[in-house]
Amino acid sequence: MNNIKVTLIKRKYKSPITNLIVNTVLLSNNNKAVLFDPSIPVSELEKHLGDKQLLAFVLTHAHWDHILNLEEVLNKYDVPLYLHKNASKLFNDSTLNCSTMHKIDLTFNIPEKTKVIELDENYCQLNLGEFKLDSYYTPCHSDDSITYLIEDNIICGDSIRLNKPARTDLPTSNTDDLEKSNEFFKGLNPEFTVYNGHEAPDKLKNFYLFKNFEQELN
Ligand SMILES: [Zn+2]
Repeated sequence: MNNIKVTLIKRKYKSPITNLIVNTVLLSNNNKAVLFDPSIPVSELEKHLGDKQLLAFVLTHAHWDHILNLEEVLNKYDVPLYLHKNASKLFNDSTLNCSTMHKIDLTFNIPEKTKVIELDENYCQLNLGEFKLDSYYTPCHSDDSITYLIEDNIICGDSIRLNKPARTDLPTSNTDDLEKSNEFFKGLNPEFTVYNGHEAPDKLKNFYLFKNFEQELN
């Protein structure tokens, strides 16, 4: 059996207009780790890492709430950053990264020392040390959204939600891509566990699009 552990790190965040939960996902084994969507400060990341070696940062998409502490953690750790090629334009654009909507105005530059790896295919295999990830381009919520699979876990950012369809009214959303993206999720094992951007982990079969799909079949 595998010894990869998936840890959901939940952070309560208060923006000037709302309270929200932002999720960061840590993949780890005995001595290595990979972090998705760094919404936690370095001080908290250090506690979760302990003496594990961090291998990479990975983004599901570059909306403000998924990159809240990205600049800080990149300055601290010399590890590569994996993202979709459409994500880079959001770091310096508070309208596109939706922070303006929250009256925060988050903009920053990726540190020059950081090795940025842009994923530009619909499907990529990532070999991050012992962590073998499959990445799938799943636009609709945003044109830089990627869903990652590792073993029986799905890390999907905001591409699917438990009780509602994905949000597609944001600056880089595209409603036309929603159906295609949903078809992708419907093709995955419904017993897999989903880690999304703001909710508690749950089986894929319990998600909105999958429940509707079952109803259509019956
Ligand atoms: Zn988002």
